[in-house]
Amino acid sequence: MNPGNDNDGKKWHELPGGGINPDAGNSLENYTGYLRRGEKPQFNPDNCINCFFCWVFCPENAIIVDGEKIAGINYDYCKGCGICVNECPVSHEPLPLIMVEEKIEL
Ligand code: SF4
Ligand code: SF4
Repeated sequence: MNPGNDNDGKKWHELPGGGINPDAGNSLENYTGYLRRGEKPQFNPDNCINCFFCWVFCPENAIIVDGEKIAGINYDYCKGCGICVNECPVSHEPLPLIMVEEKIEL
């Protein structure tokens, strides 16, 4: 066994599988909004068909839902990755989700 590898004396087959989150749901404890770097999504409800694709794919649970409708974006958690914009299936103007520039306060 590698002496520099501290696994509490467990053998490899006794370790938990990789890629498992033992504390699922803890993303709400991390305000990931500080990770945005100059761009953020902007929501416009006019053509939103409430398909919830943005809600399903957002990795930070930042899409706000009100009843059975999308209501906006929680910028405390939105890290500006743009996945929601890419997944939105609506292609006619005004788009429900677009990326806009954001002035960063330092
Ligand atoms: S850009 Fe969209 S998908 Fe990415 S964290 Fe913000 S709301 Fe979620
Ligand atoms: S993916 Fe687009 S159309 Fe679907 S709920 Fe989100 S904003 Fe609305």
